[in-house]
Amino acid sequence: MFRILGGLVSPSGARGRLSILIYHRALPSPDPILHDSIDAAQFERHMALLAADFNVLPLSEACTRLSRGQLPARAVSITFDDGYADNESVALPILRRYGLTATFFVATGFSDGQIMFNDAVIEAVRSASAGTYDLSTLGVGVRSLADSESRRATIDAIVGRLRYQTLNERALLVERLIAALRSTLPKDLMMTPAQVKRLHDENMEIGGHTINHPLLASLDEQQARAEIVGGKHRLEEITGAPVKLFAYPSGKPGRDYGSRDVQLVREAGFAAAFSTVVGIANASSDPLQLPRFGAWDRNPNRLGVRLLMGCVRAAPAAPALQPQY
Ligand SMILES: [Zn+2]
Repeated sequence: MFRILGGLVSPSGARGRLSILIYHRALPSPDPILHDSIDAAQFERHMALLAADFNVLPLSEACTRLSRGQLPARAVSITFDDGYADNESVALPILRRYGLTATFFVATGFSDGQIMFNDAVIEAVRSASAGTYDLSTLGVGVRSLADSESRRATIDAIVGRLRYQTLNERALLVERLIAALRSTLPKDLMMTPAQVKRLHDENMEIGGHTINHPLLASLDEQQARAEIVGGKHRLEEITGAPVKLFAYPSGKPGRDYGSRDVQLVREAGFAAAFSTVVGIANASSDPLQLPRFGAWDRNPNRLGVRLLMGCVRAAPAAPALQPQY
């Protein structure tokens, strides 16, 4: 069905359009606390649809073809942000089964058992024993944690408060949260360097995503450059290959990164970079700010329709947690 329609709305050549999908987690099984992350079965249905009806290209090849007006019809690229371990353990075998290539944007500062602040909140609240906790020092009052709904509501409230604080402030508040809930955090949520290398060795692409996943706009120029260049160099050390693609953390222009950061990305030697602006890339898109969109659809046919019709602009807003990172 998508093949015929797709040739009309997503033609090949100079009028070609490139849909770049964003994934984050690929959970081994459904999780009510992470209801906005897709699981292995859903990811497999997405890949089956893409392999059957679309032309999935490695992202670097797709960007080169886009710039030369040589995209095939129904062109799609698959990306994962942040570097979760399940990308290697769950998504990789499925990608291989369908013969598809994806690009993994890895924030390198978390590869030795560290965890991003939003995940620290999720995991601290998830693993807390059922009970009532005074979290007023975190600005979210007294909370009763019992079922997955109450845990999820608490997570959303805390993440909402922490999102635009500095890295140091976040670290302090997360520490306070862990102490208040008497939780422990997992050490294996993010990929190790060996897992990143394995993705590279399996012909997947690895892209830069800074070291510590800061909002680049909140940093001075020296800090922003160190984050962009440092992450790139670390990934090149791990893979032994040049890293030419970059995704801006959080990715909204003007809010999360600015024109200075685009320039820093250019100076660092990246050939293409990606925002989280919702859209489909075409010949007039800025190669250092290419739009993408979240692949959160439970029903793969809905994803197919969105891919074809370019109706992503009219799609519902992305769920609160995952697709914004
Ligand atoms: Zn991210």
